[in-house]
Amino acid sequence: MGDSDTDNEEKCDECQYMINCYKEGIYIITKGVEERIWCQSCFDDMWKDAAADGWTGDDIEEMLKRERKREKRKALNNK
Ligand SMILES: [Zn+2]
Repeated sequence: MGDSDTDNEEKCDECQYMINCYKEGIYIITKGVEERIWCQSCFDDMWKDAAADGWTGDDIEEMLKRERKREKRKALNNK
């Protein structure tokens, strides 16, 4: 651990944006041994495609769970 600001930053693997881990959302997704770091906006845009493509991770699982809940609610409302 150093004391420079860049220690708090991770680069988004998609758009090369420097994410400040303390202030902004950072998303780590994995597929086998591969790992990618995404910023908030890349994750928002692409998590669905990534999930369909076999990528996973806590953040994707969470989104899928939310999505399923929403689907269930929608199904109930249509009855
Ligand atoms: Zn990004």
